[in-house]
Amino acid sequence: MESISIRCGSCRRLLCKTAERAIAGVVEIKCPRCGTINSLRPTSPQPERQPERPEKDKDACTGSSITPTPSPG
Ligand SMILES: [Zn+2]
Repeated sequence: MESISIRCGSCRRLLCKTAERAIAGVVEIKCPRCGTINSLRPTSPQPERQPERPEKDKDACTGSSITPTPSPG
């Protein structure tokens, strides 16, 4: 099993060792030496890539003129 060393991004101190696929989500480890919060992310590409949507939105609730009918009486 391939193990990777997690090191502080500021002072390079060894924070922990973990398997390559052990991280499923974002993990934050605070460096005990310099106090830097290191955010770890799983080593996998992000499939959830939202496509660029144009700013032009469908006009909603505009142009419809509603005339209330006066009730007799
Ligand atoms: Zn550090």
